[in-house]
Amino acid sequence: MNYDVEKIRNQFPVLALHDKDPKPFAFLDSTATTQKPEFVINAMDNFYRKHYSSIKRGVYSMAAQTTDAYESARKKAAQFINAKRESEIVFTRGTTASINLAAWSYGRKYLKADDEIVISALEHHANIVSWQLIAEERGAKIKVIPVADNGDLILEKIPELVIPGKTKIVAFAHISNTIGTENPVKEIIRTIRQIDPSIKVLVDAAQSAPHVKIDVQDLDCDFLAFSGHKMYGPTGIGVLYGKYEILESMPPLEGGGEMIDQVTFEKTTFALPPDRFEAGTPPIAEVIGLGAAIDWLNQVGIEAIYQHEQEILKYAEEKLREVPGLHILGAPKHRGSLLSFTLDSAHPHDAATLLDEDGIAVRSGHHCAQPVMKRFNVPATIRASFGAYTQKWEIDRLVEGLLRVNRIFAL
Ligand code: PMP
Repeated sequence: MNYDVEKIRNQFPVLALHDKDPKPFAFLDSTATTQKPEFVINAMDNFYRKHYSSIKRGVYSMAAQTTDAYESARKKAAQFINAKRESEIVFTRGTTASINLAAWSYGRKYLKADDEIVISALEHHANIVSWQLIAEERGAKIKVIPVADNGDLILEKIPELVIPGKTKIVAFAHISNTIGTENPVKEIIRTIRQIDPSIKVLVDAAQSAPHVKIDVQDLDCDFLAFSGHKMYGPTGIGVLYGKYEILESMPPLEGGGEMIDQVTFEKTTFALPPDRFEAGTPPIAEVIGLGAAIDWLNQVGIEAIYQHEQEILKYAEEKLREVPGLHILGAPKHRGSLLSFTLDSAHPHDAATLLDEDGIAVRSGHHCAQPVMKRFNVPATIRASFGAYTQKWEIDRLVEGLLRVNRIFAL
């Protein structure tokens, strides 16, 4: 495979800077957020230095250029997930905001008392709490697809949980941020469609967008949410994809500039999607940064990144076996590029603190997925996660660091 990880890594200023340190920085927290390549930083820097203006409102040429750049990022996002139309891409603050937008806008209009929303036992809090809030307001109920000990969802339970006429929404993650389980999205959606084609399906793609080629038409999801900062782009920007007919039937969540058609004191009519859902001056530089991140991902090739990450994952799974008393959570059929584990010797926070002393960045805690911790009967885990730039020496350093944790806590 001619994937030149060294060359890719050098495009990331933070990593390149610390690779020269006596204890080079091992960044194993890409699931939380990825580092940014020069290409993305430059796109945002150029915008601020050379072209800065608002969008849509001005007739002067710089404003027109910025509007073009903004809309061209929308086109890139649409092509990135193979949406049928650019107008199916709504820019939001991130996955959390995207799920909340779908939950509140769709839910307020369509959910009634005793309707049901089905989620999975592997969800991030963003895909649990958003639904609980709207369910509480509408008097709807939440049901949960259970997870097996290996971290795979128990898909056979879907026909028991998803009930024609009662279930209105099913929402689940493409890839779990705690165990890494890659769910068979297409198969799950096909099963739901067979039960009741009118059920709306939301896919949380926060952890899949930077790793797996997504085709919303092939998956046949109704909504899909992802964040820029987890796919080499900036913070503060994300996407809610929605099938156009569904978005068109949904009311706006926020009122303000640029989301209207006509305003009088008596009545306001709204713009068509996506403008209807993008009130106010948007995060323009972040949208441009997201567009650049998509260009960067396309240049490197998402399939090549996936293969590289899977190689790192296999290497990490093998190497971590060298650490006595280490237990990896789950063994799903398909795992994304992350591993969660516990140590017999130390609490995850203590272990992560000692790893930090060695310049090794991992995440410790419940990973915004407390129900997953409860299901697997652990208070917290250590999570090591990988990206396009991860190298094997970082895994070696992690293993050395964990052996040191074992030595210190054995004292
Ligand atoms: N869903 C999943 C699966 C996630 O991993 C995350 C981020 N950890 C989110 C949702 C929320 O994303 P954001 O914080 O970017 O809104």
